[in-house]
Amino acid sequence: MAIGPLAGAAVLGLVVGSFLNVVAHRLPRGESLIAPGSACPHCGHRLRAWENLPVISYLLLGGRCRECGRGIALTYPLTEATTAVLTGVTAAALGPTPSLAPALVFTWWLIALARIDLDLRILPDRLTLPLAGAGFLLSLIGLWFPALSPEVGPGMPGPVDSLLGLAVGYGLLFGAAWAYGRATGREGLGGGDLKLLGAQGAWLGPVAVLLALFLAALLGSVIGGLILLFRGGDRHLAIPFGPFLAAGGWALFLWKAELIRWYFGLSGLSG
Ligand SMILES: [Zn+2]
Repeated sequence: MAIGPLAGAAVLGLVVGSFLNVVAHRLPRGESLIAPGSACPHCGHRLRAWENLPVISYLLLGGRCRECGRGIALTYPLTEATTAVLTGVTAAALGPTPSLAPALVFTWWLIALARIDLDLRILPDRLTLPLAGAGFLLSLIGLWFPALSPEVGPGMPGPVDSLLGLAVGYGLLFGAAWAYGRATGREGLGGGDLKLLGAQGAWLGPVAVLLALFLAALLGSVIGGLILLFRGGDRHLAIPFGPFLAAGGWALFLWKAELIRWYFGLSGLSG
């Protein structure tokens, strides 16, 4: 992909990332996403346009509110930067195809969910349930727009596979959570995790959603292990699973065929 469109995608990602900050802050609190404009969470100072530029304002202001001087959480510019990078990667992976629009929506939705889970340890139904609905709806639209079908790009599963994916994603994690609870007497996975994997199943189909869970668990073990190694602490320190699920589902949506091939090579099931 040429550098021009890629830069455009990154700038779009910055702007969307700024909106995802608003979503992550207000949606769990049941506040309006549109009005009022952004304000400092400490003193209520209403941000001028130049104070509200993604990443740039954070740097210009030295990470502090201009009015009260209190620190602005690093998660704000990090969300914007992450959204810019992932938007660029998604655009580069798919190019200007019909799949790009739903892929970007999927990407941004997952970023909002991951951010909220990191902040508050919840995955709100108000985001996971519409994500499942959108996946199924797109699988229906795919019937009429073959460019969205699995043969082109990462594509969408058909409606039957979409429903199967939903059932497998939700049911599988439900079984795992139940077994984990029985074995350890602890709650390891929340209901939000089940709904998120189910929603991803509606976008991925039954096979890819299994692999998404595998990737999420793999990532979670590696990163969780590193955190334990460098920071020590309680073995049961709850690291939210949502961001790992989001990462696994996102990777599967973009590189479904490649990852499935990689997995079957890994498990020695293919010659
Ligand atoms: Zn302030």
